[in-house]
Amino acid sequence: MTDDRSIADYCAEVQQRMAAACARAGRRVEEVALIGVTKTFGPEVVAEAWQAGIRRFGENRVQEGAAKIPHCPGGPEWHLIGHLQRNKVRAALEFFPVIHAVDSGRLLAQIDRVADEIGCQPRVLLEVNVSGEASKFGLKPDELPAVIEQALPMRALTLVGLMTMAPFCPDPQQTRPVFARLRELRDRMERELGVGLPHLSMGMSNDFEIAVEEGATWVRLGSILFGHRPRWRPAQEEGVEE
Ligand SMILES: *Cc1c(COP(=O)(O)O)cnc(C)c1O
Repeated sequence: MTDDRSIADYCAEVQQRMAAACARAGRRVEEVALIGVTKTFGPEVVAEAWQAGIRRFGENRVQEGAAKIPHCPGGPEWHLIGHLQRNKVRAALEFFPVIHAVDSGRLLAQIDRVADEIGCQPRVLLEVNVSGEASKFGLKPDELPAVIEQALPMRALTLVGLMTMAPFCPDPQQTRPVFARLRELRDRMERELGVGLPHLSMGMSNDFEIAVEEGATWVRLGSILFGHRPRWRPAQEEGVEE
């Protein structure tokens, strides 16, 4: 950050912008929550953000979360927002009650099996590759119905919604169709499969206002709150587990 404003100042500004986006879309502010994405930042940043009123935090790598979370103040709800490998499910469930980027039926089954075994009830979102970019993780829209139906009878996990990563566009307005498409998909799945999928995890620092206008319930915000990340690792930016 180039000025001397605090995390609390940035949070307040972002909350105002979220409220304005809600007003434009005729939504209530309580319908949308921000997730503070603290990847590459230390526990002191989490503590400061907690002080500023942030209650949900996101990490994109299991190992980093496992190393960090025990040193953070108690109370936050931790969201795993990055790609998850099946061999890291057990560790993920130990630290993250909400998992955003489930992108296959096999991963979903593994999460349910391990959660049942250790006795936890994770909330899960399916990642959808709405834009069709080859470089992105996520289910294709036409793969969704089968995976949702697979989730319905599961014992431990609860499917709570859909998540997407929009392609980065210098003009955030260009991401609008991606967010609109995820909402339409959600609405169609609810109608056709008779399920409730209350959460839409979409929108990042560059485009969260558009995502809120298009129905996001969770926006995932890193750099706009905490500044440039200390370590720049492109693979990690895409949520890739090593
Ligand atoms: C890093 C990350 C974010 C936050 O990105 P910013 O542009 O810094 O807000 C959101 N979602 C995922 C999956 C991420 O990996």
